[in-house]
Amino acid sequence: MLIDLTDKHFLVTGGGRGIGKAIVLQLLSAGASVSFTYNYGKETAMFFLQELLQQFPGKAALYQADVKDEEQSKALVSEIEKSPLGSLYGLVNNAGITADAPFFSMTTAMWKDVMDTNLNGTYFLSKAVIKAFIRKKNSKIINVSSVSGIRGAVGQANYGATKAAIISLTKTLAMEFAKFNLQVNAVAPGFIDTEMVAKMNEQDKKKIDQMIPMKRMGTTAEVANLVVFLCSENSNYITGQTFVIDGGLTL
Ligand code: NAP
Repeated sequence: MLIDLTDKHFLVTGGGRGIGKAIVLQLLSAGASVSFTYNYGKETAMFFLQELLQQFPGKAALYQADVKDEEQSKALVSEIEKSPLGSLYGLVNNAGITADAPFFSMTTAMWKDVMDTNLNGTYFLSKAVIKAFIRKKNSKIINVSSVSGIRGAVGQANYGATKAAIISLTKTLAMEFAKFNLQVNAVAPGFIDTEMVAKMNEQDKKKIDQMIPMKRMGTTAEVANLVVFLCSENSNYITGQTFVIDGGLTL
């Protein structure tokens, strides 16, 4: 099955590192053009952009935007829509954070920060593209959820709640916009080897490997493969679904 995204322009939030970076790279490899964002990681994202432009000249663009900020999200989309890469075909809501703590010691600031970034960020960006996508009548939104939003996780009351809400939001948007040929799907990764996981100590990482039936964490490229499939026309009859990619963790 060949995935061809030629002439399709995607916006990937948080594309400068981790899972988002792999998504950007694989979308470009499939022929798409990609606008991607960073928030604090300017240097890393700029370096990545330079590498990309050598391999895919004229096909990638980088923007700074904080997904927590509705005005910034609106301005980002309107700037991208006018850019030389053309109008958007798809949005990948990837940007996300964790601020883990047992519920007893989780502060309201930790709760709000994760809500604002993961859930409100997904809402703001989806809202910012929706009019254009309704007009286009051929578009995709992919939301990055997590297995923590499916089964809960100790220490992640805030994070899991946002990721569960994203699954619900995915279903509602899929139902409301199916008539406009907009497919909205989510992916729910388990443990993926990124900086988010790198914060853990080696002993905890080994424990996690043992919990996973496949005895290893996933790679960012494996998540990106799934996202790229959902971005492609090969998935045109799929909408409102959440695809777990976790090496069997939640079985
Ligand atoms: P990561 O390496 O920590 O990267 C997070 C990305 O989100 C960065 O690019 C960061 O940009 C961006 N970001 C954070 N806050 C932002 C904000 N306010 N505005 C704009 N961008 C912001 O994380 P990751 O592991 O790749 O995670 C990517 C997505 O996958 C997240 O939604 C996460 O919840 C989900 N996920 C990850 C795992 C895992 O095991 N890693 C598992 C399940 C789900 P800057 O660096 O520029 O600030």
